[in-house]
Amino acid sequence: MAAETTTTNPTDPAVLDTDIEQFPGVGERRAEPLRKAGVKTYGDLLRYYPRRYLDRSTVTPIREIREAGPYTVVGTVTSKGMIPGRGGRSRFELRVTDDSGGTLKCVWFRGANWIQRLYNRGDLYAFHGKAEQYGSQFSMAHPESDKLDDASAALTTGRIVPLYPGGAALEKVGLNSRTLRKLIYRMFKEHGLAIPEVLPASVRERYGLMEGNVALRAVHFPKDVAERGRAVRRLKFEEFFFLQLLLALTKGKQERQPGITLDGLGAYGRQFLDDVLPFELTGAQQRVLDTIAADTASGRQMNRLVQGDVGSGKTVVGVAAMLMAVDAGYQAAFMAPTEILTEQHYANIRRFLEPLGLKAHLLIGGQRKTLRDEILAEIADGTAHVVVGTHAVIEDKVAFQNLGLAVVDEQHRFGVVQRAKMFKKGQRPHVLMMTATPIPRSLAMTVYGDLDVSAIDELPAGRKPIDTRVYSEKRRDEMLDFVKRQLREGRQAYVVYPLVEESESETLADVKDAENGAAELMEALRPYRVDLVHGRMFSYEKDEAMDRFKSGETDVLVATTVIEVGVDVPNATVMVIEHAERFGLSQLHQLRGRVGRGADQSYCFLMAAYKRTADAEERLQAMADTTDGFEISEIDLNLRGAGDFFGTRQSGLPDLKIGDLVKDAEILSEAREAAFALADEDPGLADAAHAGTRAHFAKTAPRSLGFARVG
Ligand code: ADP
Ligand code: MG
Repeated sequence: MAAETTTTNPTDPAVLDTDIEQFPGVGERRAEPLRKAGVKTYGDLLRYYPRRYLDRSTVTPIREIREAGPYTVVGTVTSKGMIPGRGGRSRFELRVTDDSGGTLKCVWFRGANWIQRLYNRGDLYAFHGKAEQYGSQFSMAHPESDKLDDASAALTTGRIVPLYPGGAALEKVGLNSRTLRKLIYRMFKEHGLAIPEVLPASVRERYGLMEGNVALRAVHFPKDVAERGRAVRRLKFEEFFFLQLLLALTKGKQERQPGITLDGLGAYGRQFLDDVLPFELTGAQQRVLDTIAADTASGRQMNRLVQGDVGSGKTVVGVAAMLMAVDAGYQAAFMAPTEILTEQHYANIRRFLEPLGLKAHLLIGGQRKTLRDEILAEIADGTAHVVVGTHAVIEDKVAFQNLGLAVVDEQHRFGVVQRAKMFKKGQRPHVLMMTATPIPRSLAMTVYGDLDVSAIDELPAGRKPIDTRVYSEKRRDEMLDFVKRQLREGRQAYVVYPLVEESESETLADVKDAENGAAELMEALRPYRVDLVHGRMFSYEKDEAMDRFKSGETDVLVATTVIEVGVDVPNATVMVIEHAERFGLSQLHQLRGRVGRGADQSYCFLMAAYKRTADAEERLQAMADTTDGFEISEIDLNLRGAGDFFGTRQSGLPDLKIGDLVKDAEILSEAREAAFALADEDPGLADAAHAGTRAHFAKTAPRSLGFARVG
């Protein structure tokens, strides 16, 4: 009889928390790159999912490639070499042939020096990438590749071979798809029994999901395509389920918080809408306001997000909501992300409140200490009814006498955690968030999954769609003539320059670009007055430039993207966007939204290089075709995919291992339904039937909370 080598229970899930370094065959040297790839424990290795599979259904014989598109091929390297190119730029090429007798070229324009060392003649590889036709031959630029030794056999026997995410660091310690596969296989053999079930049986039954340990095994070593499909569905469901459970529990907790009870529109609110506003609310504004009245009268804390396209009139709704608080004897706050916006809101809000005899204060960074102390004192003793300030300033330091409601403008920059932290202390004021960045429904389920959401889906009457034109350099004079005609009629224009680099903040080069542009325009648009605003100016300088434009003292405002959100000058009817091909769709949409805010017909010129990528072409075309923010967001999402949708700056999205928020929207929707039902039924996850779910949630929630970081 073989001696017992271990005394631990083979089904104890605790073993899955063991440091990956301890696993035979890993050790210190391999542990480090594994950790960097997210594999810190035994359990993580079991969840190191294949990024692709090779089988007869996914591999294309080279000879059968007839049109451009993404393909996976398996072939032998028959030749390799550096090909000299113009300007000292050489490229590296591989020739690959397979059993079909076809030949494919693989090309690298960058990193050729180290890449050429990776491949040897006679080696068998899987290549995955976009094939493009040149002459009679197809080639792939910068394909992904995996070295294989047993794939041909697998392909003829009908087996499915998983390929794992790799990289230079893993390669260096001998970890490639093949060795990872072996490592994972061994892990299953030794500790597969320890994998706990994390979904409640009731959920598995209801949605027809296979067991967790079976799914994990099958995602790595599927018997056939059908089993793999079921495994992938179960694991995606699981991933979405825990994400949504986090949102559901957060939301449920908020909903159970007692809130300040307001009374809907009172004397101030009515006077504001009836006497102060020069227009009637749109139907959509009215509807949203009714919802806010109901929320704030319910006795629970409101956490509502209002999505409304640029120019749909969110500010007015925010002000009316604040007046509900003031009417009930509370203070209100209005928060904006930047100083320019904050000051602009302050100017508007003060204008609205003065006729009502109410006092608003401004709070931004850089105010003199004596002034600031005075303001803070008046906020603390209740003299100030409304405070307008930047997010940072209000959240951190301000002591209110009795804050009843806070409006958070342009809140899409926040994540779930920021929101959960907001106003948790003290009286728990109602929170009304507003965003002019419409996002597709599929993403809203996650990004705003903890909130109640309403939409202002109607523009004020009489708005004319902005006439949008895509011009190349050749037509610059035509554009300038057009701008001059508008200026002659007393209108104003913006000219915007993008960030030159794809960096997050403005660089000197960006500023230079805008400065040069301003100088040229001053010349070309004489005698009209051209002014410049950019992010490297002192904030008082920016304010002065904005004020001059707002008051009509200047006719043309040249700006870097600091102008982006919320700026409101209804007399401006022309928006010229330089290098428009470099902007993302949502940014173009935001910028265009700076015009078309008054009764006059407005225009947007997208000045774009003649040579542009297919993606850029689609973006420009979408801008010319529609002014609907939701439609634009759908197109944007399709072009970029969920991962890039928010850019690098706004990381409002979770880091998912297997699910795709867009492609798997249906599974996401089911998982959300299941998670919200569970959170409702057992908010403490206290039932014995939910023990596995609870343990997994406790372990993974802190990690998924990472998705809520602000960028
Ligand atoms: P956004 O939703 O982009 O924040 P704003 O609140 O800045 O939009 O409003 C855009 C412009 O529309 C402002 O000049 C505002 O005064 C005006 N506006 C708002 N609501 C209405 C309405 N119901 N009718 C006419 N104009 C309106
Ligand atoms: Mg706004």
